[in-house]
Amino acid sequence: MAIVKVHEKYKWKFLEKNYFYSIGAGMLVTLGAFFKTGILNKAVTIRYPEETRPVSNRLRGLHTLKRDEEDRERCTACFCCQWSCPADAIHIEAAEVPPERAHLHPEDKYAKVFQVDLLRCIYCGLCEEACPKGAIYLDGGIPMPADHRDKFIRNKEDMLEEKGGPLIGERI
Ligand code: SF4
Ligand code: SF4
Repeated sequence: MAIVKVHEKYKWKFLEKNYFYSIGAGMLVTLGAFFKTGILNKAVTIRYPEETRPVSNRLRGLHTLKRDEEDRERCTACFCCQWSCPADAIHIEAAEVPPERAHLHPEDKYAKVFQVDLLRCIYCGLCEEACPKGAIYLDGGIPMPADHRDKFIRNKEDMLEEKGGPLIGERI
C-alpha cells in the first residue's frame, strides 16, 4: 500500500531509478568542471565570502527585529518565538520598560536580551510565523562565515533595525 502519494510530475522516471544513469550524470558534472579548469583554465568556484552567487528570493536569511511607524521596538518579549523554535536557538530575557525608555516601546515589557544562536538555527521561519507583533523576520541577508563560535550569536543590537515602518506581510 502506498503510504505517500507522489504527484505524477515528481515520480521518478525509469532512467532516474537506474543508479548507473545517476552516477553518469554526476560524472558529467565532474568532467565539465575538469575541462573548464584543466583545459579552458577557467574557475568553477567563487571567492566566497567576498563573492556570492545569486540566491532565490525565497531564501530565509538572517533575523531582523523591526520597529513600528513610531520607531518603537515591535517586540514585546512575549516569548512566542522562543517557545515555537524547534532548535532552541532563541534566548530572550524580558524586563519592565523603565520610564526613560517608555517612548521606545508600545507596551510595559520589552526584550532586554534577545539572542539567536545561528549554529542552532535551521532557518525554518517558525519564529517569524509565531510572532504576533510582526517583530521578527528572516530578511537580514545571507549568513556569513566566522572564525569563532561566539560570532554566530546574533544579539539584539545586531538585529534591531534603526527605522520603523508598516508591518511586512499579513499578520492575523
Ligand atoms: S528560524 Fe526556526 S530555528 Fe531559526 S530561530 Fe527561528 S524558529 Fe528557531
Ligand atoms: S519577536 Fe515577536 S514572538 Fe518573539 S518575543 Fe518578540 S514579540 Fe514575541
